[in-house]
Amino acid sequence: MPNPLQTPVKNLHGVGSVLGNRLKRLGIETIKDLLWHLPSRYEDYRTVTPIRDLQPPVQATVRGTLALIHNKRSPRKRMMITEALIDDTTETLKIVWFHQPFLTKNLSVGDELFLSGKVEQTPFGVQMTNPVYEKAQKSAESQTHTARIVPIYPTTENLTQKQMRFFVREALPFAKELPDPFDDSFLSQHHLLGLSDAISSIHFPKNQQDTAEAERRIKFNDLFFVQLFTHATRESFKHFKAEPITFREQETRDFVAGLPFTLTPDQKKCAWQILQDLARAIPMNRLLEGDVGSGKTVVAAIAMKNVALNGKQSIFLAPTEILAQQHFETLTALLPLQRIGLLTHSQQRINKEKSSKKEIIQHLAANGIDIVIGTHALLQERVQFLNLALAIVDEQHRFGVKQRKTLREESGNSTTLPHLLSMTATPIPRTLALTLYGDLDLSIIKTKPPGRLPIITRIVDADKREKTYQFLMSEMQAGHQVFVICPLISESDTFGTKSVEEELEHLKKRFPQTDIRALHGRMKPQEKENVMAAFRACEFPMLVSTAVVEVGVDIPNATAMLIEGAERFGLAQLHQFRGRVGRSNKQSYCFLFDDGLSSGARSRLELFARSQDGFALAEYDLQLRGPGEVYGTKQSGMPLFRLATLADAELISETREMVKDLTQKDPELASHVALKEALEDFTSSLHFE
Ligand code: ADP
Ligand code: MG
Repeated sequence: MPNPLQTPVKNLHGVGSVLGNRLKRLGIETIKDLLWHLPSRYEDYRTVTPIRDLQPPVQATVRGTLALIHNKRSPRKRMMITEALIDDTTETLKIVWFHQPFLTKNLSVGDELFLSGKVEQTPFGVQMTNPVYEKAQKSAESQTHTARIVPIYPTTENLTQKQMRFFVREALPFAKELPDPFDDSFLSQHHLLGLSDAISSIHFPKNQQDTAEAERRIKFNDLFFVQLFTHATRESFKHFKAEPITFREQETRDFVAGLPFTLTPDQKKCAWQILQDLARAIPMNRLLEGDVGSGKTVVAAIAMKNVALNGKQSIFLAPTEILAQQHFETLTALLPLQRIGLLTHSQQRINKEKSSKKEIIQHLAANGIDIVIGTHALLQERVQFLNLALAIVDEQHRFGVKQRKTLREESGNSTTLPHLLSMTATPIPRTLALTLYGDLDLSIIKTKPPGRLPIITRIVDADKREKTYQFLMSEMQAGHQVFVICPLISESDTFGTKSVEEELEHLKKRFPQTDIRALHGRMKPQEKENVMAAFRACEFPMLVSTAVVEVGVDIPNATAMLIEGAERFGLAQLHQFRGRVGRSNKQSYCFLFDDGLSSGARSRLELFARSQDGFALAEYDLQLRGPGEVYGTKQSGMPLFRLATLADAELISETREMVKDLTQKDPELASHVALKEALEDFTSSLHFE
């Protein structure tokens, strides 16, 4: 029998293919997706106020009989206005809707209605404007849009809240088909709702307690399964061996002594942790975390140097071609004695020499290369290594066991994995790291190298924009470079959020003598490459870009950054942007514009302006918004919590204890079939294996 949860959502009554496509934009394709499309907030429309008692201005719900309804055109703007009169026996109230002439067809005089909306005193008397309306049902529970706690959903263009609620309501009977991985005794022991009850309540709660209980159950799921997952991953490493790498003490000391700077204590500690892991015959699984500019590359170099001195190979994967090339340049300079290959779509080199894909691949199979650097596309190349011992992955937090296995299997050895060092500049607080990355050991570079100037960060009011432009001009005249970041690529959206293409035109007018170029994700890789290479070579002074410059790009001559629509980004992400400047001993600046920020957004950004501590900023944003929002939903290997946030400290430790207990007794989950299935479901939803 087909699983009803997998029924395409467009088969639901009233959806069809047009609305089906709009729902798809929200990631909703099946009934199950719809059930899991959770409200972002609620409106409480439970209290019905007698019309006589209304005291405008006020947000209110009234109930009464429709006494009159008609359309008319506004005299000047030729706008369609629907006027109505509602009578609840205490008084009558005037209702006005704009642009909804169809209402006269949906509603007729005599209908018993609930109306929720804003009641105002206008020059034409007291009126309710653009209210949500719904015909009165037999019971409050049967109401969908008014006279109850009403869910508000994340939605998209041309898909109204009313439609969303209507569709969810239709899907709700299928909630009972959701398999619950926990049995009844477990649920009652831990005071948890069943999953289908939780889903029903989270969409249409009867009261606040309903919402609280439903949220708790869903957060429990989030936290339980991510921890079960990391446990299972850690467990699976036990079946593999790795090449032990002997620590070459003297050569390492010489290398460190030859650096133009002294390693920070954190760099030393992290390098030491890595070298100890490498020396073992079991695979290393380590996450090296360090804020932008904290100096992770040299730590990675120490690891790769030791691998090379053991006669073994390393692979270094970067998220973009630009970064692969940058790492190649840094590492060839740091490790002049090693044979280092660069293998990307557009460039192939071995040390200073131009090379070819074919040549590099041949050398890798014959151990003519110690280190190969490339993008993740390198994995698709099915490269054969003679003896790959270490994989370093930059800015992709999790690197599947399967991917690691592939790297070795090509060399005919499937019981050995390369050691893994994952590196990230994303500030993930330890509590979150333990929860999300329990399968990885953690090394953190907390303190930056000494002598860095904090980046002066300012929120600029709209009327000071011109002054800021003058300042940028003076920076450029001093020979420095400037970044402008915009949230969107082409057209600015209806909220006035700026786009790269439009901002480029605008800035060209403002700075007519200046060579300004653009960078965004829709450009061809080669074009992006060229723009970045030219910017790095100081060929032009101002770059307008989307978030693609976010990770890793190193342009020491850039001293100023201007971020448009900053409120659209998470604080951790803004901090990543800001890290593109301040990479030398020159004073650097970051400007955010206030073109009418809400007070909440303003205070978030003020916090950002005050703090240079990526970890603190991330922690703050996590408490508020949860990891999915903060780190982006697509970031590889970052499981998207439905509801849980770091603020759920109690639930985090509760679930951690439970998972520990469970897995100690039954590491393979042999007697927990339902949990095992739910875990597989969870794992496949992570999309990285
Ligand atoms: P990230 O952690 O962001 O990858 P990098 O490894 O690119 O940082 O290092 C940033 C800059 O700091 C580089 O120019 C590097 O040479 C320099 N650097 C690294 N370690 C130190 C140190 N201990 N003292 C001074 N400068 C350092
Ligand atoms: Mg880096």
